[in-house]
Amino acid sequence: MQTNFSDEALRQPHIREADRVLRSCVHCGFCNATCPTYQLLGDERDGPRGRIYLMKELLESRDDDDQVTHETQTHLDRCLSCRNCETTCPSGVEYHKLLDIGRAEVERRVGRSAKERALRYGLRKALVEPRRFQALLALGQTFRPLAPGPLKDKIPPRAVNVGRATPARHPRHMLVLEGCVQPGLAPNTNAAATRVLDRLGIALKAAPAAGCCGAIDYHLNAQEDGRDRMRANIDAWWPHIDAGVEAIVQTASGCGAFVKEYGDMLADDPHYADKAKRISALTKDLVEILREEDLEALTLHGDARLAFHCPCTLQHAQKLGGAVESVLGRLGFSLSPVRDPHLCCGSAGTYSITQPALATQLRNDKLDALEAGQPEQIVTANIGCQTHLAGAGRTPVRHWIEVVDEALTSTAGDDTQTASTPSP
Ligand code: SF4
Ligand code: SF4
Repeated sequence: MQTNFSDEALRQPHIREADRVLRSCVHCGFCNATCPTYQLLGDERDGPRGRIYLMKELLESRDDDDQVTHETQTHLDRCLSCRNCETTCPSGVEYHKLLDIGRAEVERRVGRSAKERALRYGLRKALVEPRRFQALLALGQTFRPLAPGPLKDKIPPRAVNVGRATPARHPRHMLVLEGCVQPGLAPNTNAAATRVLDRLGIALKAAPAAGCCGAIDYHLNAQEDGRDRMRANIDAWWPHIDAGVEAIVQTASGCGAFVKEYGDMLADDPHYADKAKRISALTKDLVEILREEDLEALTLHGDARLAFHCPCTLQHAQKLGGAVESVLGRLGFSLSPVRDPHLCCGSAGTYSITQPALATQLRNDKLDALEAGQPEQIVTANIGCQTHLAGAGRTPVRHWIEVVDEALTSTAGDDTQTASTPSP
């Protein structure tokens, strides 16, 4: 695609980056075929190619150009950031990088209503601090029976507290990110991962000072706050990296996809660029660890019939489509087929709150596809998808590692799970 940036504009790093991405697009439109919002709305401006044009016009126009309106913002807001278009694109267009630049620019030029600003600010403040989120969640769970239907969907019932697995002592050590909402919504996920890796001779532990990966701030256009969270996590992890941890394990694929981009996002920071690159290189989704291990030696017999929902952040961002299915198959689980596995469930970070109608439609379609093979449980790899799908109150939804942990525990007949010592 031809671009028309002035030399002066091209001196700005974000415009140079946008120019590079725009020029890689040959406007063939293949990406529209797999874009969930284009499929639902049928409007070119709600597909990747149309959004790319909108961002080109936005970035090439002058600050006082009145062609940039709330309409541009609406079409960019409706994008799920699912990156399905990147998987389909034959030219390797890095759409998400352009989207970050376009969204920040439209925010600066167009602004938002007081109501939208309040919602976005409230989401950032409520979600990213684990203790605050857990206190709000406990309050919501107490009053859940009184909440109206749509709000009730968003408040999951209290998770069963299964205790925290004590990290075992092994020569192999890995870090795990606790994250912001996962400890409150699904405390068993990291506990289960710790127990399973313990069986494989790997000690998993969290760095207490690490927190939200930064994705929530970053994708709600508070990009500098998001970068501050990245730097804080790097500082929290660095002593452990110096001490020789093998990997930084992510049990939420949304966080994993984001941390894998720290290197790119902090490339201009003279103090953190090198460290960020190293952090990204050390970051692995849980499935990348398990698939390298001798799983067959675990002699586990998973007899539950499962359907796997592969999050967009796992298949499109991290390019790990099929990896969890393969690990579950090696462990003896039977997986039911899922139609259109490439499509987003509508969770997409805070999308289910900022775009509830589209998110609900996508969730219903996804659940119909997942339930077609009549699974007993749906398993997934990201807390956002898990909560969003479970909110419909249909087939139970869990993280896949919980099912593996449960089958391991019952196969071995031991009491690892119940003997785990709760830790603060
Ligand atoms: S498929 Fe790729 S090259 Fe074709 S229009 Fe979409 S982004 Fe551009
Ligand atoms: S990121 Fe997803 S919703 Fe956005 S344009 Fe690409 S395919 Fe469509």
